Amino acid sequence: MIGNAQFIFLLGMGTFVIAGTALFYEWRRSRDPAAAWWSFAFLACTIAAGTFPLRQFDGLDVVSIGLANAMFLLSYSAICAGIWKYYGRRVNGAVVVAPSVLWLLFWSLCPLASDFDMRVAVGSFLAAVVSLVTARGALFGKARMLGRALVLLMAFRTGFFAVRAIWASTILGPISDAERAIGFEIVLVEGLWSSVISGYLLLALLRENRERLLVKLSETDYLTGADNRRAFQLKAEAAWQNSSDRRETTLLMFDLDNFKHINDAHGHAFGDGVLKDFAAIVSARVCAGDVFARLGGEEFALLLPGRDAAAGARFAETLRADFAEAMLARTVDKVRVTVSIGIASTRHATSLDRLLGIADEALYRAKANGRNRIECGPCSQKVVAAPAYGTAIAC
Ligand code: GH3
Ligand code: MG
Ligand code: MG
Repeated sequence: MIGNAQFIFLLGMGTFVIAGTALFYEWRRSRDPAAAWWSFAFLACTIAAGTFPLRQFDGLDVVSIGLANAMFLLSYSAICAGIWKYYGRRVNGAVVVAPSVLWLLFWSLCPLASDFDMRVAVGSFLAAVVSLVTARGALFGKARMLGRALVLLMAFRTGFFAVRAIWASTILGPISDAERAIGFEIVLVEGLWSSVISGYLLLALLRENRERLLVKLSETDYLTGADNRRAFQLKAEAAWQNSSDRRETTLLMFDLDNFKHINDAHGHAFGDGVLKDFAAIVSARVCAGDVFARLGGEEFALLLPGRDAAAGARFAETLRADFAEAMLARTVDKVRVTVSIGIASTRHATSLDRLLGIADEALYRAKANGRNRIECGPCSQKVVAAPAYGTAIAC
């Protein structure tokens, strides 16, 4: 049995080192605290498994049994802590070390610790509790495939350790040496398989996070934090496809007025500040499902699914007025920092390109008609609001 066990321990150490190192490099790249916890967990397992040959020496039980099991429990807790951290939950250091501390107290103070079966029962019970808390943490991500796989793995481990704790407690009857040996080998194989599966799942979770972050970066305008043109195109197309219920959707196209003059007078940094402020004003007022993006330069677009042209025009007027007011202090040589807005509704467009075209034409009219105003539709029809500063909204 010892021969087999030593072989499995050796295999396990290889897996732990590979997974721990891969997770460490993942942490170096992403600085994701979950990766640090998981890397630590696998490296702690390596050290714990490395003490196994010392079991042949009675005098070293404190290391090969006492400390080694504390290390295994600490590594299970670290996996658990990483999962809670991964899903944005707070991790309490005292709770992380609690199972190891309880084990060490049992090992050093309880007379029952001299009995192999009782040690197995207590160690398995603690491992079952940690696995249960880990499964609870993994439930935060059960909506995704990897999260679900992790829940299953941890639920299986909970059951496995619970059964082992009950079996080792001898409630079900006495245990023979042969059964004990088989039980020990089963636990080693379970540990090996679980470490391979969990190592793969945890790495995949981190990669998934990084990919999500990269996609977000590739779709975000660096200066304003709004979506960029690419993201707008993708989201607007998706919204267009989803509008099978034929709810009216309205598009607002924005172009800041006299921006070149503002840049020339105050410098690019000032202009950048204005762009950021404009994006912040719009972002603070949009609802879930709206798509707001910087199309380029001082041009922005806002798609309002489910809002008709009149509601879109009222919203556009709020944005125009709020921006003009916020920029009053930044008037340059009597040139006010304002925005012109063109509006198009799906009532007049059969494709997204056409919608953009109509909004663009309306925006041109807003510029031609004096700026700091809103124009709507393929051509001016009726005024739906007459805001301050003499601007008109035609829909
Ligand atoms: P109009 O009222 O007709 O829209 O005039 P405009 O001056 O706003 O339009 P024009 O197209 O002539 O100038 C746009 C300016 O926007 C020119 C360019 O330097 C400036 N711009 C484009 N991108 C940025 C940016 O990221 N930061 C800053 N500060 N300025 C930018
Ligand atoms: Mg422009
Ligand atoms: Mg402009």
